[in-house]
Amino acid sequence: MAKLASYAVLDEESKGRRHQEPLPLYRTEFQRDRDRIIHSSAFRRLEYKTQVFVNHEGDMFRTRLTHSIEVAQLGRSIARALHLNEELTEAIALAHDLGHTPFGHAGQEALNHCMKRFGGFEHNLQSLRVVDRLEDKYAEFPGLNLTYETREGILKHCSQENARNLGEIGQRFLNRSQPSLEAQLANVSDEIAYNNHDIDDGLRAGMLEIEQLCELPIFAERYDEVKAKYPDISMRCCIHEVIRRMINWQVTDLISSTTERLHKVGVTSVAEVREYADPLIGFSDGMTEKNRLLKQFLRKNLYSNYRVHRMSHKAQHVVKSLFEIFFDDPQLMPPDFQKSLKKCKTEEGEQGQARVVADYVAGMTDRFAIAEYERLFNPSYLT
Ligand code: MG
Repeated sequence: MAKLASYAVLDEESKGRRHQEPLPLYRTEFQRDRDRIIHSSAFRRLEYKTQVFVNHEGDMFRTRLTHSIEVAQLGRSIARALHLNEELTEAIALAHDLGHTPFGHAGQEALNHCMKRFGGFEHNLQSLRVVDRLEDKYAEFPGLNLTYETREGILKHCSQENARNLGEIGQRFLNRSQPSLEAQLANVSDEIAYNNHDIDDGLRAGMLEIEQLCELPIFAERYDEVKAKYPDISMRCCIHEVIRRMINWQVTDLISSTTERLHKVGVTSVAEVREYADPLIGFSDGMTEKNRLLKQFLRKNLYSNYRVHRMSHKAQHVVKSLFEIFFDDPQLMPPDFQKSLKKCKTEEGEQGQARVVADYVAGMTDRFAIAEYERLFNPSYLT
């Protein structure tokens, strides 16, 4: 790896793991984190979880797995250009969605609603729970025992109330300090990935039209460029050429604006990055505005499309029904969840019981949640 900048996180300066382990023999600490994430069962389940479109709607759409890989790709490329730690960025990117419920935002909202009396449900916090506690496969420790820096990046947002119970990892939400540049970068890469692929998936689903998208400066400029250069291009190729140019434009802007900002502010260490009042990874003002319009457009034209809304409504019903039935009768859950429910109920009462049910429901894939709903509520389904 090329020499890293003084404000990059270095392997040897990591704040370490919660449970001490021997040093890796032939990998860096962050490569080990990445490898553990890839081998986790929560990571495999991302294949059947979605953000906007439900998994069974078609094989052509992004899933949370392909989304996470796209985020990692963007993060790594940008990290390399900025001389940041590529492997840490990659580990955070691959883990950032591990705590997501089935059915994207609709599922998350429904579960948060069910958990209202019990401290709520936040998907970022759930991702941390997955890597800290819920993955259960190592003899020496619970979870994946990741480094502090990867865990810090995974916990992108957190309420003050929850932050108070998290110790050192929650501290930055209380004193409003910043995470590492690698964590900031994984976050922005996530945004670049989903804004652009939602356009692609939205067009493919027939929920967005090219003419509508041409109202957006970020799309229109690149569209005109492609059409001028390749007048006879097929629609499929054209869309891809436009989207790759949009991504490239955003990435280039992010690299140059961030380089300029880092230079201007003059940070020289990770400690200074953490203490700085604002995030340092970011677009230029012009690109920030273009992105704002893009998000606004997607909210108006895609996320509130009646077909998306109809599916979200159904998804919320499934999540809510599953939560309620397991909470009322935990014996309907598999034995290992019953066991941890018993333990948590003894220690924390109803709140502990609800948390285990939320863990179980959140861990489900879209298709498993639908099948489980059928098994529990459809009288003609007899297995
Ligand atoms: Mg994401």
